[in-house]
Amino acid sequence: MFTLWPPESCAMSTFDPVIHYNLAHFETSAARLDQCPPDIGAEVAFAGRSNAGKSSAINALTAQTALARTSKTPGRTQLINFFRLNVEGLRLVDLPGYGYAKVPVAMKLHWQRHLDAYLQHRECLQGVVLVMDIRHPMKEFDEMMVHWCESTGVPLHVLLTKEDKLKRGPAKSTMLQIQKQLKERLGDKVSVQTFSALKKSGVDTLRQRINSWLLPDLNEMQTPEVDLIPPKAD
Ligand code: GDP
Repeated sequence: MFTLWPPESCAMSTFDPVIHYNLAHFETSAARLDQCPPDIGAEVAFAGRSNAGKSSAINALTAQTALARTSKTPGRTQLINFFRLNVEGLRLVDLPGYGYAKVPVAMKLHWQRHLDAYLQHRECLQGVVLVMDIRHPMKEFDEMMVHWCESTGVPLHVLLTKEDKLKRGPAKSTMLQIQKQLKERLGDKVSVQTFSALKKSGVDTLRQRINSWLLPDLNEMQTPEVDLIPPKAD
């Protein structure tokens, strides 16, 4: 897997190795693999069933209100959206929401093919953030993504979002249960956290995980063991 970054041509004096997520901006949309930006640099992809809270999570991560559209227009959700970060060559990727009820089967299959092509062939993919509604974890699509990470070895971070909908006890026990289940399959390649876009809880934890994938050399020394259950916001 391609992890060489920064490129040799990039002088360290001008290279800012800090990701400022709030500076993320839309780069392009792709309906097919060949429309994606060149497969160089490093990127982290967000996946999730429709309505899981993926767009809200991307917006909370980047402290922006409308970077990822929360609209439910089926036409939009079939595109792979690329967001450029302030550090050259680093990107966030919003994969098509899956499971939108009104989409015809043929279109679902079409998405699945392109999603599959992206996941199978994208060399610069460093990790997948799988967003699940904490009240409805590990549905069929989630299982498919876990299986895909299991077979390719691409690291997985599970974001159990909408934790504000549960009390702390049930939220924690769901997290521990999912963590145990996934650790048995993916070992060190998986991490799980709770999150709330509404309360903005868990944002720092998510940023640290993405940093560790996109800036691995820097984070090797700096990333502390993070508490994967963020404190409840008041
Ligand atoms: P997507 O289809 O996965 O991109 O989901 P969205 O981000 O559009 O969210 C789906 C719905 O869940 C919207 O009505 C959001 O306002 C709501 N939502 C998303 N995240 C949270 C959260 O953390 N807490 C609560 N209570 N609602 C959320």
